[in-house]
Amino acid sequence: MMMSKVGIYPGSFDPLTLGHLDIIERSLHVVERLIIAVSDNDKKNHMFDADIRVSLIQDTINSFDVSLKKRITVEKFDHLLVDYAKSKNSNIIIRGLRAVSDFEYEFLMTGMNRTIDKNIETIFLMSSDKYHFISSRFIKEIHRLGGDISKSVPKPVLDFLKKI
Ligand code: ADP
Repeated sequence: MMMSKVGIYPGSFDPLTLGHLDIIERSLHVVERLIIAVSDNDKKNHMFDADIRVSLIQDTINSFDVSLKKRITVEKFDHLLVDYAKSKNSNIIIRGLRAVSDFEYEFLMTGMNRTIDKNIETIFLMSSDKYHFISSRFIKEIHRLGGDISKSVPKPVLDFLKKI
C-alpha cells in the first residue's frame, strides 16, 4: 500500500500573501496532503490574531478546485514543530526560500529540527520570480502607509485589510 505523504507548511502567515499561496499550490505537486500550520506563539509579535490568520487562509483556499481543497487542512499550532509534525504522522516540512537572506535562518532551523528528530526532512521550494519580493512584513508596512498591495495578497486578505 502506498503511504499517503503528508507535508506540514508552518509559518506566521501574518498575513497570507501570494508568495505563500504559490508555495501552497506547488507543494501539492510534492505531497498528497498538506497541513498549513499557523504558528500561535506569543513570543512572536504577530499583528493579527492566529484565528484571523487561519480564517484568511481558509477563505482563500475555499476558492480552489474541490480536488485540491480536500487535500489541504489549515490549523493553529503552538507546539514544537517536530512534535507537531509527528502527531500528524508527517516527517515532511515545507518551507519557501526567497533571497539569500532567508537562507541562514532556514539553514539553522532545518539543522535544529534535524537535531531533535533525524527523520524530519525539510523541503524548500524556491520562490517564483514574480513573488520573490513579497513578504508579510512589507505588506503590513505598505498597507499602513496607504500603499497599494492588491498585487501581493489574495482577495480575502485585501478585503480584510481594507476594513481595518
Ligand atoms: P515565519 O515566521 O515562519 O518565517 P512566514 O509566514 O514569514 O513565517 O513564512 C512562512 C514560510 O513561507 C517561510 O518558509 C518563508 O520563507 C516562506 N515565504 C514567505 N513569503 C514567501 C514568498 N514571497 N515566496 C516564497 N516563500 C515565501
